[in-house]
Amino acid sequence: MAHVTQALFRDDAYLGEAAAKVVAVNDRGGIILDRTIFYATSGGQPGDTGLLRLNGGDAIAIAATITGETKDEIIHVPALGQAVPLAGDEVGLALDWPRRHLLMRMHTACHLLTVVCPFPITGASVGEDDSRIDFDIPDASFTKEEVTKRLMELVAADHPVFTRLITDEELAANPGLVKSKNVRPPNGTGKIRLVCIGENAVIDSQPCGGTHVRSTGEVGEIHIGKIEKKGRENRRFRIRFGSMPAQ
Ligand SMILES: [Zn+2]
Repeated sequence: MAHVTQALFRDDAYLGEAAAKVVAVNDRGGIILDRTIFYATSGGQPGDTGLLRLNGGDAIAIAATITGETKDEIIHVPALGQAVPLAGDEVGLALDWPRRHLLMRMHTACHLLTVVCPFPITGASVGEDDSRIDFDIPDASFTKEEVTKRLMELVAADHPVFTRLITDEELAANPGLVKSKNVRPPNGTGKIRLVCIGENAVIDSQPCGGTHVRSTGEVGEIHIGKIEKKGRENRRFRIRFGSMPAQ
């Protein structure tokens, strides 16, 4: 039977530490908790890494976080050779916060890129150093300099980033909210989580379950490293941190 893990990161992406209880350890050594701050790999964002601290003082290094039988079951995958906790153990959770914060900045930057390039998304991947989004774009006139300039205008404006829940019916009435060409947001759960940018979501809103920073200013300096042609109408944009290197 799949467990339902309370996903604390959904309401507060800034929780770097928390306490939880071990619910089960599966036959592959994966640790399931009653609640967690560890984001599980999905939607192009990699899962979190960090530590589980046991009462006796031992710490278990978590190398990956994934979902189990259902999206609501979150499994903490220990690195090799770690102590094994028992069901019922109280544990302290600590994220590798510098890594997670980079992923939050990058993930938010990806949303900004979908504002600058309002085209159907065919793929995306968020990384600590480099993120990519593939768009179905018929015209090839975008330059990395122009896209970078418009991204940095959105960063400089320091727009708020927040979430809000809508119903399946509201989403069905606003099909334009969905930017992904192939991936549909989960339907039938009753509530869809929208990630909104700008006062009253004036800049953007789209369904997303990932972790984001509180305002676009926190994304910091980014640039488009490359725009690659992948197929006739597919363009792959790569986002990197820092200023654009001199040519
Ligand atoms: Zn997102």
